[in-house]
Amino acid sequence: RHRSGSVQQAAAPGERPLPEVLGADLEVPVKGGRLVSYANLDYAASAPCLAPVNDAVAAALPAYSSVHRGAGYASQLTTARYEQARQTVRGFVGARPGDAVVFTRNTTDATNLLSRCLPAGTTVVVFDSEHHASLLPWPQAVRLAPPAFPGAAVRAADEALAAIEGPKLLVVTAASNVTGELWPIAALAHIAHRHGARILVDAAQLVPHRRLNLTALDLDYVAFSGHKLYAPFGAGALVGRPDWLTDADPYLRGGGATRAVTAESAEWSDDAEQRHEAGTPNVLGAIALAAACDALTATGWLPLVREEERLLARLRAALAGIEGVRELSLWGPDHPRVGIVSFVVDGWTPREVAEALSAEYGIGVRDGKFCAHPLVTHLLDGVPGGCADGTAAAVRASIGLGTTTEHVDRLAAALRDLASRR
Ligand code: PLP
Repeated sequence: RHRSGSVQQAAAPGERPLPEVLGADLEVPVKGGRLVSYANLDYAASAPCLAPVNDAVAAALPAYSSVHRGAGYASQLTTARYEQARQTVRGFVGARPGDAVVFTRNTTDATNLLSRCLPAGTTVVVFDSEHHASLLPWPQAVRLAPPAFPGAAVRAADEALAAIEGPKLLVVTAASNVTGELWPIAALAHIAHRHGARILVDAAQLVPHRRLNLTALDLDYVAFSGHKLYAPFGAGALVGRPDWLTDADPYLRGGGATRAVTAESAEWSDDAEQRHEAGTPNVLGAIALAAACDALTATGWLPLVREEERLLARLRAALAGIEGVRELSLWGPDHPRVGIVSFVVDGWTPREVAEALSAEYGIGVRDGKFCAHPLVTHLLDGVPGGCADGTAAAVRASIGLGTTTEHVDRLAAALRDLASRR
């Protein structure tokens, strides 16, 4: 249906095809002025929109109106769509019936919201390997070194939490944005609860790739972003236990968050969602986010995971065969991961590699420290080529629903060529 839909992979009998992504027919100029099809291998930064997300936004626009306060038909319809989006997100992450689903701008906004709602005296335990969105918001934190293996993460969290008096929160990523590696979040939740702590899981890189069930994993909070989940920018969510949220002053003060306001005072809503969604919300963002959740759920995770694992294995096998290319990992090449690979190329700075991939081959990747400076510095400690320009940085290729075998093979051929030049 969509002009710019991705090339669809053949679905097995009984399976739905993978949802289409927009922009699959994008052509970009390369050296010499030629146009080539764009190989987007930067899904971990922001994923392209799904066609059903585009459809949902287009369907919502004609009844565009402010939510919650209007009596008119368009306002009622928009309100119903917005609240339905909340229920969809609730189901998507397997939330408990009483959990709050607060729409935020993104993961960073969600972690910062929770940081403003911690009971007085809360100590946060967080690994240095986190993305800055999960590393930096906390007023009082115990920082743990990146663990050498998954069991060491559990042991370090156990020891740190045991030593803390008063309220405590463990913050951990579900899937690393640098290596794609999956963290043992069920075991960490168990340890947190054994010490009377809560756990916040940064699911920004997990939810585009794997099913997450907050109830089954016994997580207290999860945070994620729509723009990594095949929806546009500007909408994310914090999902979890409502009590800390309703006990805290609103993160944003203004209309919608209140129960009653007089000249002297304001009483804030008892409802966690209303209390922390002051001002006119990003209704279209929420509708888009929910449409992405619906599309992924309707496809089912099995075909998505199977196709991603096929492409990831192909890419990693190719990289492993190129002399001078070194993949980064915290827990070794065999640890399970989502479709993210970071690497360095001997003799090239990451910036030079990323620029050459774009300018010569029409491939989009990211280079730098990926807002995880301590982790990237740790991973590159002693890796030749990692600090070629004097700073720790790497190249990251990340795959998603629009990635094809040709994209992966083009990246491998390009890196083979670049590595042979120096
Ligand atoms: N957490 C992880 C693991 C991420 O990869 C990112 C984005 O790169 C974030 C948090 C922050 O997401 P956002 O920039 O959407 O707030």
